[in-house]
Amino acid sequence: MKSHRKELWFNTTSRRQLLNITTEVQNEINESGIKDGFVLVNAMHITASVFINDDESGLHQDYENWLEKLAPEKPYSQYNHNTYEDNADAHLKRTIMGREVVVAITDGKLDFGPWERIFYGEFDGKRRKRVLVKIIGE
Ligand code: ZN
Repeated sequence: MKSHRKELWFNTTSRRQLLNITTEVQNEINESGIKDGFVLVNAMHITASVFINDDESGLHQDYENWLEKLAPEKPYSQYNHNTYEDNADAHLKRTIMGREVVVAITDGKLDFGPWERIFYGEFDGKRRKRVLVKIIGE
C-alpha cells in the first residue's frame, strides 16, 4: 500500500469564501501515483469546512444566505464565544458544512458523480489556513 500526504494552504480575500479545490486534490492523486484507493480531504481549522457539491454561483449565494440565517455573523455580542474573538458564527457554520470528505480513487481519478466538486469553505478568512490531503491505495 502506498500513502501520500500534502497540506494545501489558502488565504482568502474575504471573511467567507468558497473555493473549488478539485483540481488541487486531483493533482495530489497524480503526484502520488495511486490508481486505486481513497483520498481524505479535511480542513485543519475549526472555522473552515471541506464539502462536496455543485460549482454553481447561485447555489453558492444560497449557502451564504442560508448560513447567515442559521448563524449570523453580527451582532458579535449575541455569542458567548465572542469574548476574545469574533468568530463564533464561523465555528457554527463549519459544523453544519462539515470537516472532511472521503472520495474513492479509480483508475487514478476522483470517482465522482457528474456534478460533484470538492470545496474549501472558509468562514473566518483573510489569514493563512490549510487543508490536509491524505491518499492511500496502490
Ligand atoms: Zn473562535
